[in-house]
Amino acid sequence: MDLHDHRSLGRKLGLFHQQEEGPGMVFWHPRGFALYHLIEDYIRARMRKAGFSEIRTPQVLSRSLWEKSGHWQKFGGNMFAFHQDGEEGSRDYALKPMSCPGHVQIFNADVRSFRDLPLRYAEFGLCHRNEPSGALAGLMRTRAFVQDDAHIFCLEEHVVPEVARFCGLLREVYADFGFNDVGVGFSTRPAVREGAEDVWDRAEASLQAAADAAGLKYRLQPGEGAFYGPKLEFVLKDARGREWQCGTIQLDLVLPDKLDARYVDSNNNRLRPVMIHHAVLGSIERFIAMLLEHYEGRLPLWLAPDQIAVASVTAASADYAGRV
Ligand code: ZN
Repeated sequence: MDLHDHRSLGRKLGLFHQQEEGPGMVFWHPRGFALYHLIEDYIRARMRKAGFSEIRTPQVLSRSLWEKSGHWQKFGGNMFAFHQDGEEGSRDYALKPMSCPGHVQIFNADVRSFRDLPLRYAEFGLCHRNEPSGALAGLMRTRAFVQDDAHIFCLEEHVVPEVARFCGLLREVYADFGFNDVGVGFSTRPAVREGAEDVWDRAEASLQAAADAAGLKYRLQPGEGAFYGPKLEFVLKDARGREWQCGTIQLDLVLPDKLDARYVDSNNNRLRPVMIHHAVLGSIERFIAMLLEHYEGRLPLWLAPDQIAVASVTAASADYAGRV
């Protein structure tokens, strides 16, 4: 068994499998799904403590919403889309590749006052992306994954404290999982983007001020931001010195405009909120792959879902000890 390959570790520990009928998809076995739940529950508790409310948004939405948000133009080729003829007429739909537009619908479902902000939503969002078959790699790159996706709707003056708070949360979570070496990249406007130049100027300056206030030391990654805003990317180094991109913080002044998100200020004016996109782990599937390879299958006890798993992990270590 290759202890540096999460696929063989996953098989050996009875965690999951993949098969040809579901290319890029994962079949989680009981023990693997117990591990999955432990990680989700841990993040859920952390997010709740950080003031996020958990929500759930639909898996399938009309293509027209994805066109409005700009995802169709940007990711259309990588989205699972289908046409449905039914009682309500004929319509084009797509499986969500990310949860952001859904979260804006919940923000928009009520009249929001400046007093309501910041509003913080979190979701374990099941996302589908039709990645090219050559790019698929076990749990590292799948076509279906759960993203610990969170969004803050706030005022510009909230950006610095919200980002600083979230950076603190990220550091604590990574340390709990045994990752203390965390690098940060600051990605600026890409060639293909939405939004006017002055909007990008403000968004980049604001995120940079927040990163500085949080005491982050980052490397600049020109042109690597999301199409709607600049981002901070958190990179973890594992036991073998390999780097993995995990958490992200993205500042977005574009999507609230495209999807008509507004709050009412003290003069009754309708204004656009700032949207901050967050993920702590990114894809849970990918994070489990990282953990398995980082610990060579010998996960810390708090992540061993039951005694069977402990025994199995111990067996894996014995197997490893026997090999070396
Ligand atoms: Zn988002």
